[in-house]
Amino acid sequence: VENIKQRSLKQVEKNRGELTKILRELIARPSISGEEKEAQLYYAGLLEDLGCQVDVWEPKPEDMLINPNFLANRDQYSDSPDVVGVLKGSGGGQSLLLNGHMDVVPPGAIDWLQSPWSGHVEGNRLYGRGAADMKAGLAANYIAVKSLLDLGVRLKGDVLLESVVCEKTGGAGTLSAIHRGYRADGAVVPEPTGMQVCPVSMGVIWFKITVTGKAAHAATTHLGVNAITKAGLLIAAVDQMNRQMVAEKKHPLYGYHPTPFSVNLGVVTGGAIPTSVPDKVVLEGRMSFSPDETVADAKKLLEAVVHETAAADEWMREHPPEVEWFGFFLDSGSVDLSHPFVKTLCHNYETALGRAPQVVGSPFGTDAGSLIRYGHIPTVIFGPGPSSTPHKANEYVDLDSVVQTAQVLACTLLDWCGVEE
Ligand SMILES: [Zn+2]
Repeated sequence: VENIKQRSLKQVEKNRGELTKILRELIARPSISGEEKEAQLYYAGLLEDLGCQVDVWEPKPEDMLINPNFLANRDQYSDSPDVVGVLKGSGGGQSLLLNGHMDVVPPGAIDWLQSPWSGHVEGNRLYGRGAADMKAGLAANYIAVKSLLDLGVRLKGDVLLESVVCEKTGGAGTLSAIHRGYRADGAVVPEPTGMQVCPVSMGVIWFKITVTGKAAHAATTHLGVNAITKAGLLIAAVDQMNRQMVAEKKHPLYGYHPTPFSVNLGVVTGGAIPTSVPDKVVLEGRMSFSPDETVADAKKLLEAVVHETAAADEWMREHPPEVEWFGFFLDSGSVDLSHPFVKTLCHNYETALGRAPQVVGSPFGTDAGSLIRYGHIPTVIFGPGPSSTPHKANEYVDLDSVVQTAQVLACTLLDWCGVEE
């Protein structure tokens, strides 16, 4: 197998041009969450050319029930088909699932030096919305498998190439694929971790706090109750909660991250005109939590802070603010460092790059939590870099790191799935 590994490393390098071309084709098909169809059908075509059995389907809301805390934000997925290609092994090996999400966040209005869909290359950088997060990962998944096929390698275990929708809006695509029965003995999600190996993924959930006041003319403030002022009490309390979380919530694999588990208010809506006492304010925020905690624990923490703040205020005691969990929830997940799949990936990282990987917790929420908790698949997040460009203007990926990701994946496939001699 060591000999095949060395040839595979070279073959992936040889396929760098094709990898770049495919990544540009993916970026040229804008796939903002909810509009992934064109890019997904292109990827399905690639998988068909590889000789996979390809399954393309529209997720259904009831598929997501495998995650009892899923927060629905759509009722139909006609422009968001999921895609899975299965390459059957010869038998007797372990299976490997290579997952990736096709959806990207909107480009934003300003600051792009070139079109976000151009995929232009400058030196080692390939630019575009989704370049790093995570079309590079999808391209690396494909090239890893293709390179082995180019060499005539026949794997014993099945390989599943999965391209999902709606990760950015809460992971409906991966949940649907699990529901449809796509499971494996190991999985990799090549999110842009900057080549760090992450067997642990944080949980992320959104919330909304609705604060009620009493409307009045601003000339008669004594007749009203100002919802903005009341919201201010809650804003201060959530800020205090954040500082406490950052100080107290630790995890051994998150030592590198100053604020892994935190709460952030991202949107404040309320009031109409300066001459009115406002009667309603809505605060929206995001909370991240450790894989050692359940989502129920995380929810309780915020609900308690809101409840205590309200209890200390005469008006809010009678008119309690309402907490809702809405729109987005990616569960946390964790695989033991001693698990054979984690060891196999780390070993092949060394084979490909000549040094041991950094093993840390994922800096963001990912679909790995669902694969681990609801698919019962040992899953590692590992992909190209840098990890700092997603969601920003001029997002780019470092092409060398995409090639290296594909090399690590190719070698991992050989070990994990086994090779038919
Ligand atoms: Zn991502």
